Amino acid sequence: MTSIVVLGSTNMDLVAYVPRAPARGETVTGREFRTVPGGKGANQAVAAARAGAEVSLIGAVGADEFGARLRSALEHSGVDTDLLRTVEGPSGTAHIVVDDEGGNAIVVVPGANGTVTSLTHGDEALIGTADALLLQLELPLSVVVEGARTARGLGVRTVLTPAPARALPPELLAATDLLVPNEHEAAALTGHAEPHAAAQALLRFVPEVVITLGASGCLYATRGAEPVTVPAPRVRAVDTTAAGDTFVGALAVALAEGRPVPGALAWASAAAALSVQRAGASTSMPYRSEIEAAAGEPEAEPA
Ligand code: AMP
Repeated sequence: MTSIVVLGSTNMDLVAYVPRAPARGETVTGREFRTVPGGKGANQAVAAARAGAEVSLIGAVGADEFGARLRSALEHSGVDTDLLRTVEGPSGTAHIVVDDEGGNAIVVVPGANGTVTSLTHGDEALIGTADALLLQLELPLSVVVEGARTARGLGVRTVLTPAPARALPPELLAATDLLVPNEHEAAALTGHAEPHAAAQALLRFVPEVVITLGASGCLYATRGAEPVTVPAPRVRAVDTTAAGDTFVGALAVALAEGRPVPGALAWASAAAALSVQRAGASTSMPYRSEIEAAAGEPEAEPA
């Protein structure tokens, strides 16, 4: 079976739904409150597990109620949490205010995620068995760099989602095989708002780039070939939270199974399109059988 390791964050999302976000010093009354398991690492792990891979998450939760709930939600989706540490102090939290126009404002408090500053021998051994290592930027940068370099040294493909957007150290780019920014992150990294121009700029640092373009699909670029645009299925989106994480998780699985790039991108697009038609983050992510049905192919066994 395809094996994916994710080195990344686990957060409890604390979501308040309000008519409009409060200004400084103001109090507004919200309509509803929800706690939802999230964090980019956990979301990508759930997406890849539901897409049919054997997935392990390296990261940390706190020794609190949120930590226990986050771990059990991951296990429920089939993610192996043996290397997810439980540490003193609070779990990571994201404090999210969603207004009536669908706009949001978010404060992330890293909590336990901030304690993951280096890899253990066990982490390294696990990475060595993987078909791909998925990374994002919600853990301390030191461990993200270490993870990418470890995987590169072991011949394991590295897939980096550069979110939240920030400048990337050269040693991280040098150890990245596939970079998957959204169009805002691509623009922030390169100064080019136009995706083709951003992709060309990024190819100076990494061999393969996929820029996700929301309802417009995605742009794939690799050195020495014409870039390819893959349209997104036309669907009625109700909640695009974690669409990018669903896309990356499914893409990593499809590539690790040996699907050619265009087919893998179409498959990941089908998965992400399913997720935007349902509310929630990890709760909205599709299972393999659903992706196969939506992608219009017979259900294949994971390699
Ligand atoms: P984003 O992070 O917004 O660029 O979205 C990531 C991926 O999710 C896109 O490349 C699409 O495959 C998918 N996606 C996002 N929004 C939509 C939408 N409204 N309709 C269909 N697919 C979408």
